[in-house]
Amino acid sequence: MEGIKYIDEINISNKRVLIRVDFNVPLDEGNAITDDTRIRSVLPTINYALDENARVILISHLGRPKGTHVAAMSLAPVAKRLGRLLEQDVQLVADCIGDEAKKAVNEMKPGTVVLLENLRFHPEETKNDPEFGAELASLADVYINDAFATAHRAHASNVAVTEHLDECAAGLLMKKELAYFTMAMEKPVRPFVAIIGGKKVSDKVGVLSSLCDRVDKLIIGGGMAMTFFKAMGEEIGKSFAEDTALEAAREVIQIAKEKGIKLYMPVDFVVADKFSAEAETKVVTSQEIPKDWMALDIGPATVTLFTEAIANAKTIIWNGPMGVFEIDAFSRGTFALVSSVANSYALTIIGGGDTDVAVHRASEFAKMSYISTGGGAFLEILENNDLPGIAALRQCKEKESA
Ligand code: AMP
Repeated sequence: MEGIKYIDEINISNKRVLIRVDFNVPLDEGNAITDDTRIRSVLPTINYALDENARVILISHLGRPKGTHVAAMSLAPVAKRLGRLLEQDVQLVADCIGDEAKKAVNEMKPGTVVLLENLRFHPEETKNDPEFGAELASLADVYINDAFATAHRAHASNVAVTEHLDECAAGLLMKKELAYFTMAMEKPVRPFVAIIGGKKVSDKVGVLSSLCDRVDKLIIGGGMAMTFFKAMGEEIGKSFAEDTALEAAREVIQIAKEKGIKLYMPVDFVVADKFSAEAETKVVTSQEIPKDWMALDIGPATVTLFTEAIANAKTIIWNGPMGVFEIDAFSRGTFALVSSVANSYALTIIGGGDTDVAVHRASEFAKMSYISTGGGAFLEILENNDLPGIAALRQCKEKESA
């Protein structure tokens, strides 16, 4: 992406480098990390900084402590795991600002790492408070943002902080995320197909409209397809639909028509008599949804249709499951499509969240070109082409060259 600098383009040697990472890892009841993907994904940036003999100061949030100190949301388990992955000590500092943080940073030697405690123990973080941003900035010479998954939020640790440091850049994870985004959205090899599923049209209406400017085919599945069917006056029984988004769905259909985008919708469904793993189920065409039943997955004919639609694609992006994939009985459509996308020859970009979970559960992650670490950030960058955390880096660069 143009207009920002990356960590490997600046001099960080021996400097105090403040790196905003996303260590918001899932923890079990005993506070053990159940998935350390988020920690592993920033190792290239941390190792790069260590190789440059920088003093690495890491900042992150974990969970939603809502501005107070919640022991269960301490980054202590992360410091331990990171230390093991780096094979060196990672000191956890009890506060991310104030005397304790200053003292710990002042005592750092080149080539060492400290992790400052959860940013969101301070209410100022999510308020993008300028003074809190200045306090964080005072700890370092250089600021690096490598937290793509939170770059859609304007918080002190990714926006305000950049106003108080002369040199800001993106990390290597951010570089990779933006490179794939650019490949798909700015110079896609065609045909370019987007698959959008999940539940709510209202969350993704902006994305759907923006995709209509770029893709050749748009595939709509999941619960959101039901809102589209309802908007077209079809009978959807007791299926989930968003009545407040019917007009938005009609607009997307109209935009796709005007732009000559081929819109693919399900032609059959797995319907159930209740929302339950024990429900009675059957496969019906999209015109035959019984009044008292609900559509909870796409059917086999739809899997064939969607698979054919992506068969000659050269670029595919996908966000959102095709059905209630958390329940086995309604997961086949999503998993069948995971397999179709994994086996395609296209550049395949998976947009975080549930789709990421489905791809991992199907053990097909190695066959995807890229799985984004951002769910909300992935959708927002598709919609707006920019994110507050990235815009802040751009402004920092402009300030520097002014
Ligand atoms: P989203 O956060 O909008 O991507 O929605 C993801 C959720 O959509 C998942 O938890 C799925 O269980 C749910 N979902 C997918 N298809 C359906 C459907 N047909 N009816 C109800 N929920 C669905």
